[in-house]
Amino acid sequence: MQPDGKGLCVFAYQAKIHNPFFIGRIDKRKWGRVKNRSVVVNSIGSFTVEEREIRPCHAGEVLVKVAITGLCRTDLKIIEHGHRDLVLPRVPGEEVVGEIVDKDRSVDVVSIGDVVYVYPGVWCGECAACRCGKFNLCREMKIMGFHRDGGFAQYVYVPAQSVLKVPAGLAFCEAVFAEPLSCCINAIEKKELCSSDKVGIWGAGPAGTLLARLAKCKTEQVAVIEPHADRRMRASGFCSPPDEKFDMIIVATNSRDAYREAFVNLAPGGTLVVFSGLAPGDAVQPLSLDHIHYNEQIVCGAYGCCYHHSVQAIELLATRKIVVDDLISDTLSLWELDAGLTIVKNKTGMKVLLDPWKVDTIK
Ligand SMILES: [Zn+2]
Repeated sequence: MQPDGKGLCVFAYQAKIHNPFFIGRIDKRKWGRVKNRSVVVNSIGSFTVEEREIRPCHAGEVLVKVAITGLCRTDLKIIEHGHRDLVLPRVPGEEVVGEIVDKDRSVDVVSIGDVVYVYPGVWCGECAACRCGKFNLCREMKIMGFHRDGGFAQYVYVPAQSVLKVPAGLAFCEAVFAEPLSCCINAIEKKELCSSDKVGIWGAGPAGTLLARLAKCKTEQVAVIEPHADRRMRASGFCSPPDEKFDMIIVATNSRDAYREAFVNLAPGGTLVVFSGLAPGDAVQPLSLDHIHYNEQIVCGAYGCCYHHSVQAIELLATRKIVVDDLISDTLSLWELDAGLTIVKNKTGMKVLLDPWKVDTIK
C-alpha cells in the first residue's frame, strides 16, 4: 500500500461491497433531507459542486447511488471545450458503477440493492444505424453526461434498460472500467484478428493499455508506441515504432504526429482505426489515397460502444481475462475534479476515479 492512498481503491471497494450498511433504499419519508452532491457544468470552462434535490424516479427510471465514477479525456474535452453532443447545464460522467436505491414501480428487470454498471447510451432502436445493430451510431443517441446528467454526483437517474448487474467479487473500481473497455472492444472488432497478425497501439494511457491487453487475447504480436517514459515502461512499449509493418493499428492518443507515424507503419491490407479524436486544427491531415489504393488498406473510425460491448466487458473483467486494478492511479473527491482533469490533461497519472462520497479537505 502506498502512503498517498494510491493503490488502495480495490481493497476499499471490495470492503464496501460486503458492507451491509452500504446497501439499502432511500427512505422516501426522508427524501427532502437527502441531497445529491453533484458537479455541474453551467458554461464551458467552469463547473461548481452543488447540493441538488432528490426526486422520485420517472417512468422506467432507476436511481443509482454512485459508488465510483471514472474520469476520461472526453470529460476534459467537454468541460474545457464543449462537445458536439453536450447540452448545458450538465452533470458530466459517463463511467458509473453503483447501487440501485430506488426505482419506478414499472421497473421489474432489476431490484433495489442490485450493484450495477451503467451503459451510458440510450438508443432509439428504429433508425437506419440501429436497424443494422450499430447502436452507438444511433442518430437519436442520448448519452449520460452529455444529453442527460451523469455520474459526477452521489446519485444519478438512469433508464432501467441501461444497467447491467455487476457480478459478485468484481470490485466497483474494476467494474467501472467496463465503459472504456467497451469502447476498446468496439475498436478491436474493426478487424478480425488472428494469431499471426501484428498489432500496433499508439498511446499507452488507460485506453491504449486496455486496447493492448485486448489485442493480446488474439495475438502475441502486439507493440505499444508511447513517447511518455513512465507509460512506455509500464506497457513495455517503444518510444518510436519498430521497423515493421502492422496488420492493425489503433491510435489511442490525441496526437497529429502519432497518426502520421501510424499511417507509415500500416502493412498492405492493414486496418488503421481512428480511436482518439483530435483537436479541430489537427484533425485534417494529408493522406495519400493512392497509397491506400495500391496497398488495399482500410482506415476506419471507432466511437463509443454498444450495450452488447458492455456485456462482453463485464464478462472479461469478472473472469479476469482483462485485469485493470493496476491502472488506477488516483481516487479523488468531487471537489478535486480540477486536479483530476489536470492529471488527465498532463498525462501524469493513469486512470483517475472520482469517489463522490469522499470528503476532501480542500473544498
Ligand atoms: Zn437509432
